[in-house]
Amino acid sequence: MNIHEYQSKELLRKYGVAVPTGHVAFTVDEAVEKAKSLSTEVSVVKAQIHAGGRGKAGGVKVAKNLDEVRTYADEILGKTLITHQTGPEGKEVKRLLIEEGCDIDQEYYIGLVLDRSTSRIVLMGSEEGGTEIEEVAEETPEKIFKEFIDPAVGLQGFQARRLAFNMNIPKDALGKAVKFMDGLYKVFVDNDCSIAEINPLVTTKQGDVLALDAKLNFDSNALYRQNNIVEYRDLDEEDEKEIEASKFDLSYIALDGNIGCMVNGAGLAMATMDIIKYKGGEPANFLDVGGGATAEKVTEAFKIILSDKHVKGSSSTFLAGL
Ligand code: ADP
Ligand code: MG
Repeated sequence: MNIHEYQSKELLRKYGVAVPTGHVAFTVDEAVEKAKSLSTEVSVVKAQIHAGGRGKAGGVKVAKNLDEVRTYADEILGKTLITHQTGPEGKEVKRLLIEEGCDIDQEYYIGLVLDRSTSRIVLMGSEEGGTEIEEVAEETPEKIFKEFIDPAVGLQGFQARRLAFNMNIPKDALGKAVKFMDGLYKVFVDNDCSIAEINPLVTTKQGDVLALDAKLNFDSNALYRQNNIVEYRDLDEEDEKEIEASKFDLSYIALDGNIGCMVNGAGLAMATMDIIKYKGGEPANFLDVGGGATAEKVTEAFKIILSDKHVKGSSSTFLAGL
């Protein structure tokens, strides 16, 4: 499950992880009001959608005064932003984050994910922040440093210091960077995150270390014990068919193609999609009804597939004995 940047920052703040002061706004007037309450003259108007790449798409604007806040809020609210993560149809902006403008000295990247090959959480850092980390991984992988965390003892001070050092964080900001990483790791573990990505993490001219962007994803299998996180859910941002599928415990992901897929078992579902692609087709969805699916579940799955108007054909692959 995904949440908005302002919600991620609220959670980080609770753990003492440094983020700029900011508030959510649903209307232009509210955006101006919220900007007034900030302690800086310069504020940043940020589109809140469940996708990154907003800056390049015009969804992040630095406003020098309240008039500019009004202009930008008016421009961004209601706009459909198309970023490399939204797909071609884009996402409509219904919320804004109005936050204090930050005097950036240098932008870095920090991320936590579960590394399946070592079964450990890995903390990644790079001095190439602000840009797409996928590009850095592709072109200059030596600029991404990793620390694998032993679950029995958690993130160790020496690991955080080594990473901060490798990222070339200035000496006088090292202590703050270590504290930041420590807090971020606690957020990740306590809340059953699957991804915590801070891009950019910045050092400021005043010597602070802050998260200017924050993306947290949560393991949906653990949501039953994370009521506070479930409250952050914004159904407007989710695909209607995916919401329907989750009610019946179906693993469904909407895709852009026209061949509906119904499969039992995630591996087989992936293989089915691969075969369709290999033969020049485009799957309309990933759908794993799971082992031992009941007639009711399969019925619901058919309803969901058929409600997708792009579906022109279908593939049902079933393995016996699951
Ligand atoms: P996205 O990753 O979706 O493009 P970000 O939150 O990373 O959105 O913002 C894009 C860029 O805008 C950042 O790399 C940073 O340079 C700038 N920015 C974002 N928030 C602030 C802020 N509070 N103060 C100053 N600059 C900011
Ligand atoms: Mg970003």
